[in-house]
Amino acid sequence: MSHLKYLSTFKCIGGRCEDNCCIGWDVDIDQHTFLKYQKIKEPEMKNLFKKHIHINEASDQPHINYAFATLTSNKKCSFLDEKHLCKIHKNLGESYLSNVCATFPRIANRIDREIEHSATVSCPEIARLLLLNADAMFWEPDLSREAPPIITYAIDQKSKSFVGKPLSKLKQIRDRCLEITLDTQMTFEKRLVQLSEFVLSIENSGEQGLSKNRTFDEMSNQIVKALLKMGTTDSKRFNDFLHLTSKGELKKGYLKYDRFIQEHPHMLPNLFGNHIVKNLFPFSEGNDTVDALRLLLCRFLIIKRHFILLASLDLLEESSGVAYLQSFSKVIEHHKYFESKMLEMLMQNQISVKTLMHSLEVK
Ligand code: SF4
Repeated sequence: MSHLKYLSTFKCIGGRCEDNCCIGWDVDIDQHTFLKYQKIKEPEMKNLFKKHIHINEASDQPHINYAFATLTSNKKCSFLDEKHLCKIHKNLGESYLSNVCATFPRIANRIDREIEHSATVSCPEIARLLLLNADAMFWEPDLSREAPPIITYAIDQKSKSFVGKPLSKLKQIRDRCLEITLDTQMTFEKRLVQLSEFVLSIENSGEQGLSKNRTFDEMSNQIVKALLKMGTTDSKRFNDFLHLTSKGELKKGYLKYDRFIQEHPHMLPNLFGNHIVKNLFPFSEGNDTVDALRLLLCRFLIIKRHFILLASLDLLEESSGVAYLQSFSKVIEHHKYFESKMLEMLMQNQISVKTLMHSLEVK
């Protein structure tokens, strides 16, 4: 087993967390934990379980989502107390947490026999550890951890069905993508162009036809509009950022954005590097590797536009940058339609990968 270095010091900060993971999301309960809850005799917890835990009729993975905990009217898990501490953890102990609660924010993937741990940036503490540290993306062996109860992606590269296909070289391809993304010799935009060229070469998937050049402003504006049209988010934090960016002015923010990126050289590379590891990029989104690339470039264009607009208002600094990326991840990673609607919009408007690539830099 191995993990990315930022996980070695991670510890949930519980009640001090500014955007607790139990807010705004469904809380899944696995079957084993559900049965443990049925055996509890202590009256308060017994009543709470009876009232707030329900069987999930649509469960497709009993070891993850056999049942669920209801949310309060303001979308908080019903088991959070007034100090934002989990009553199950507090009254019964860690061993009574469901697989999802015990695992979050960690993500485990298996490539052949090797289990790799990363984490989601939607956790504010992970966001700080990942985005502000130069060595966060180094791999470390992890012999102490037990086998994780949830494996997000499991790929056997030697599987017969992958013979002759890119998936048979998943690790090699993923590692090359990571290497390009973390290469400090180039600007981040140049890395994304090189990454795009590499992904397009994997399946010889050079798109046919002319690619229309669009400016950064035109392209990022269209993508942000498509995001807003999706009826975006329950996240107050992200909505607050959207409200602020609506008051910004791109022209006033360009130079300040460049300065911020120079002063925080690890923030975007680590965010996207982590995305590559966590999602086994370019293999887990869309219909093929090019779709995964399209979605990655769209993410970058949204973030860059919002960062520039925040910079124009003198609101882009280390803490707000981290908070924006954390809330962005919370919204996008769990958005039911981001993937399908964004790809649909690109297709309907005949926006090619080349067009996205050309629009990354402000010229
Ligand atoms: S989001 Fe992270 S730090 Fe906050 S409560 Fe959840 S696991 Fe803990």
